Amino acid sequence: MNIELRPQPRPGVMDIDAYVPGKSAAPAGVARVHKLSSNENPLGASPAAIEAAKAAAERMEFYPDGAARRLREAIAETHGLNVANIMCFNGSDEALALLTRIYVGQGDEGIYTEHGFLAYKIYIQSVGATPVAARESAETANVDAILAALTPRTRIVFLANPNNPTGTYLPIDEVRRLHAALPGNVLLVIDAAYAEYVRRNDYEAGVELVSGSGNVVMTRTFSKVHGLGGARIGWIYAPAAIVDALERVRDPFNVNAIAIEAGVAAMRDRGHVERSVAHNGRWLGWVTAELGRLGLRVTPSVGNFILIHFPDAAKHSAALADEYLSARGFILRRVTAYGFPNALRMTIGSEDANRGVVAALAEFLKA
Ligand SMILES: *Cc1c(COP(=O)(O)O)cnc(C)c1O
Repeated sequence: MNIELRPQPRPGVMDIDAYVPGKSAAPAGVARVHKLSSNENPLGASPAAIEAAKAAAERMEFYPDGAARRLREAIAETHGLNVANIMCFNGSDEALALLTRIYVGQGDEGIYTEHGFLAYKIYIQSVGATPVAARESAETANVDAILAALTPRTRIVFLANPNNPTGTYLPIDEVRRLHAALPGNVLLVIDAAYAEYVRRNDYEAGVELVSGSGNVVMTRTFSKVHGLGGARIGWIYAPAAIVDALERVRDPFNVNAIAIEAGVAAMRDRGHVERSVAHNGRWLGWVTAELGRLGLRVTPSVGNFILIHFPDAAKHSAALADEYLSARGFILRRVTAYGFPNALRMTIGSEDANRGVVAALAEFLKA
């Protein structure tokens, strides 16, 4: 046997920088930890969803409904959508990965934006394709730059709207302009993970674009406003032909039975969603204004998080701010991998957490 011989990952796999999730622990000795690093809901999950998950745990010996029929019906009713065009996944990440696997191959290209969600780049590289980053303007996706990045090899365009970690968004007219200029064989994936939080008249998540064309998919998640990140549920709204392709390659039981029940209850609890959005709206404005008063630049966000930019001065860098905040129990997100070496992303948290971060940063900047 040739000892040099070993299984080799497909080309491109070893070029991938693995996704690094937000930290969840503070240094030893910190009494109270506020995790503001993964855009989780500070109000938690709906109490109805927690009850439903507990009840489902009593029946764990049974396989789930592989079609997640009740969950898809709950989504269809709540959002006024056609149930046949809805598919559920083990987090929307699973949908993003499978769409790439189906529509993009070796030697193809996939476009994402300069400061776009990094999972896109990883999924494009995973299939041996070339990730192409389109320039942004003012930390916002730029339609002309995306169109300029198109080549005959482009197979997919990922647009997070709103984007993470910037919190910026494209008005629906701009998304329509992008779609209208894409060749029909290029898949446009609109990742609307934060859609519920957006309060802007010129924003739409993309439902009508999906309905009116064959090459647009909208992805959504239960991980953010519904507070079910740990349960792993994402869903998509997609044309029938794309649903058909996904149905052939997905795991037969990709959404587990406990997640299905939690998801049905969460989707029906509109009050919890409204309270979560109202809490976020109030504190997003407050934190943004307070940090501005401290002299910190904050990228204008429509999501449940903000990108805080630190001064270039060495003693007030993002790295030092991160250490300072962690030592006081406030866990934020470093975003160097997103092209922001001197910024931190902060999830809008509970009142205590928000006030605590602002007070701690005021002290940090004085020091
Ligand atoms: C959090 C997030 C998701 C959600 O991923 P899940 O796998 O559903 O938890 C998707 N896209 C973006 C841009 C996100 O920030």
